[in-house]
Amino acid sequence: MDIFKPLDLSGDAQKPDNENIEKVKCLIIGSGPAGYTAAIYTARANLKPILYTGLQMGGQLTITTEVENYPGYPKGVTGPGMMEDFKVQAERFGAEIRFGIVTKVDFSGSRRIVIIDDSKVIEAESVIIATGATAKYLGLEAESKYAGMGVSACATCDGFFYKAKDVAVVGGGDTAAEEAVYLSGLCRKVYMVVRRNVLRASKAMQQRVLNVPNIEVLWEHQAVDLFGENGVEGVILVKKKDTPQEETIRLKIDGFFLAIGHTPNSAVFKEFIETNETGYIKTIPGTTKTNMPGVFAAGDVQDPVYRQAVTAAGSGCMAAIDAERYLSEMHN
Ligand code: FAD
Ligand code: NAP
Repeated sequence: MDIFKPLDLSGDAQKPDNENIEKVKCLIIGSGPAGYTAAIYTARANLKPILYTGLQMGGQLTITTEVENYPGYPKGVTGPGMMEDFKVQAERFGAEIRFGIVTKVDFSGSRRIVIIDDSKVIEAESVIIATGATAKYLGLEAESKYAGMGVSACATCDGFFYKAKDVAVVGGGDTAAEEAVYLSGLCRKVYMVVRRNVLRASKAMQQRVLNVPNIEVLWEHQAVDLFGENGVEGVILVKKKDTPQEETIRLKIDGFFLAIGHTPNSAVFKEFIETNETGYIKTIPGTTKTNMPGVFAAGDVQDPVYRQAVTAAGSGCMAAIDAERYLSEMHN
């Protein structure tokens, strides 16, 4: 069924009639630390928030093991456990959590129209975008060829399948460091494929990586291809690419893990919401206000710098307060 056709929002005359539109005061898009925190605050402010979780209920932290740096958990907490706590707290104050994906928005007129799963239409008085970010791939053909057959972007999800095997982790940031340490507990050998001669990861994570005996950092290496009959059997690396010392290496591995960062999930909003050149939503400094009145952005989707659970939660709180003030001004 072509459910989207009757809801063509290209012109005001074709907009769905009011009977088919659910009207809400505050719509929150995303169920990571930013979205759930916005839900806690807006629910306590009696804005009766509706939160759509997207595909990844709980957000990025659901694919990690231990979170050790979130205040309030002195002994650490698992990522999924922490996000369940956030959800329960939001529900306790009446936030309605729904499974669904925002597939289109229309912020062209004075109304803030949001389409869920290409079918349901919501008109929100205020919208909080907290859609986070998604793992990046290198763009090699081999990544699709071997998807689910040795290529993964989530060590904590797939590491188990590589017990006592050899794997490579691409990247030099905190995620790559964390994934390498996690895999080192399962695998025989972990190669960290780092394109520069330094790690981007925090000093604490660097120390952890460099102190694990079965992690070997391959400095100034780039992965260019994978090989194997029925799954990944190895990776082709180029060392010191584009220099006179350039060298091509065939390294035998069983698993190839990507940990090279994330892309902000802003594409669905980009017709109406301003982003920077890499897709992060622009907010007015010191606030969560976007270029569109009544639309606020919180968490990783608007944060190219800090991208932490606690900063995402903090900006979720800011978005809730900004939305509440916007609504009270609107109704006065
Ligand atoms: P996310 O957590 O990315 O959540 C985004 C949400 O938006 C998801 O629920 C998704 O389903 C939803 N969504 C996306 N698109 C749509 C759509 N179209 N419609 C509806 N919903 C949508 N930070 C720390 O502080 N400590 C750590 O130890 C730590 N460990 C990490 C480990 C890993 C492996 C990774 C990848 C990150 C880690 N981080 C850590 C960073 C932290 O996870 C993020 O900063 C944080 O999750 C960002 O929160 P967020 O709410 O902005 O977005
Ligand atoms: P990141 O900090 O952006 O690091 C990405 C890494 O991948 C960098 O080393 C980068 O290399 C490399 N890279 C990017 N594109 C590449 C390519 N095409 N080929 C080879 N290498 C490539 O991303 P992240 O590690 O996912 O971290 C994101 C945020 O989450 C950070 O703010 C981080 O602090 C946070 N985080 C925190 C924790 C924690 O606190 N425990 C854990 C995980 C993540 P260059 O360095 O050369 O650019």
